[in-house]
Amino acid sequence: MSVASVKGVRDLLPGEAERWQAAELVARAVFRAYGFAEIRIPIIESNELFVRSVGEATDIVEKEMFTFPDRHGELLCLRPEGTAPVVRAFIENKLYATDPVAKLFYIGPMFRYERPQRGRYRQFHQIGAEVLGVAEPLLDAEVLEMVVHLVGRLGVTGVELQLNSLGDARCRPAFLTALQGFLRSVRAELCGDCHRRLEVNPLRVLDCKNEGCQAVLARAPLVSEALCAECRAHYEAVKAYLRQQGVAFVEHPRLVRGLDYYVRTAFELVATTGLGAKNEVAAGGRYDGLVRDLGGPDVPGMGFAIGMERLMALLPEGSSEPAQPFLFVASVGQTGEAAWRLLTELRHEGVPAEAGYEGKSLKSQLRRAHKLGALYVAILGEDELNAGQITLRDMKAQRQDAVPLARARQEIVARWASR
Ligand code: ATP
Ligand code: MG
Repeated sequence: MSVASVKGVRDLLPGEAERWQAAELVARAVFRAYGFAEIRIPIIESNELFVRSVGEATDIVEKEMFTFPDRHGELLCLRPEGTAPVVRAFIENKLYATDPVAKLFYIGPMFRYERPQRGRYRQFHQIGAEVLGVAEPLLDAEVLEMVVHLVGRLGVTGVELQLNSLGDARCRPAFLTALQGFLRSVRAELCGDCHRRLEVNPLRVLDCKNEGCQAVLARAPLVSEALCAECRAHYEAVKAYLRQQGVAFVEHPRLVRGLDYYVRTAFELVATTGLGAKNEVAAGGRYDGLVRDLGGPDVPGMGFAIGMERLMALLPEGSSEPAQPFLFVASVGQTGEAAWRLLTELRHEGVPAEAGYEGKSLKSQLRRAHKLGALYVAILGEDELNAGQITLRDMKAQRQDAVPLARARQEIVARWASR
């Protein structure tokens, strides 16, 4: 019996992998244009990193972590998200010492033990970015403008930017007390998870996925109405900058994020068509206290993550052919050595070249060349080799020329260069 993959993970096969690469290339170019540099963070981290940052009473830490002890009993985990590792790396490598502003992006897999369904996996991938060191609302608007531009540049149409402010350490406590009061008064109508959350972390109740809870929560007090003067001014400025740049957004006074560290600006990018229930493509916000909470300097932060699987599901199918060889070398008879030399030389020149592996007939090799989509076939038969030449067949034009073996490499490289 064969061994199957683990629940909730997917293989990206050739073809699909090319589509992902193309999207990643676009993302890299956009990040470069906006002054972001790549950071590659580890896939395993200490479990504590996420308990201290994402928060104990969150879905992620309560029930979605892939946590395991290493051989010495230290508790490690597969990273469930990218912000905390980036902040950890920022602190550990003292990036703030070289530049007061760090603009970083990452692309890679994340792991959450969730119930797999369309758009929700246990290994999924994020393209994310973080800016550390800027508190101004202009930065929030810049990051929002970038993420909207990025998904548009990737080819996604029909997304809505939903925006809210979550307040900060000054104004949120009073709001939480008010919210908790309300939640206790409707406790009987809430689900079991919410009973616990309303005591430990009432804000998280607003994010409950249960429809019954959501109906009750329509009457809950709004965080946006409880903001202190500074948070209100910040929020108003973010919105004004977005309007200046013509970035469309919708205020969503009930939007909260599933991670504890957000303050002030919080947002989601929601697909208006095409994804069904799991329609949030990207999410993020401001996290001014996180760097300090993780033992670093008191540096503000702002970032987001795009879910690759949901993003790719929104993109037009397009061409998803795996890369095709430019040249197929067909060796017939005792010509293997010369064929392999030509193949190797061309590959060293960067020409995508493939060959048949077994002593197959010319006909079957041509069939394979056609199937692979090769534009040219170099035929090396014994007669040709004795005459010091190859037959170069143009598969599209259905034409073939004899090319001296000594010039074959040059000729094929020239055709590749002018393709
Ligand atoms: P959701 O409400 O869908 O659970 P979340 O609030 O947990 O999302 P974030 O932690 O903000 O999501 O992650 C940002 C983005 O990453 C999401 O908008 C989504 O596109 C993607 N994402 C999150 N979890 C998964 C998952 N299990 N499978 C696929 N994509 C995911
Ligand atoms: Mg989630």
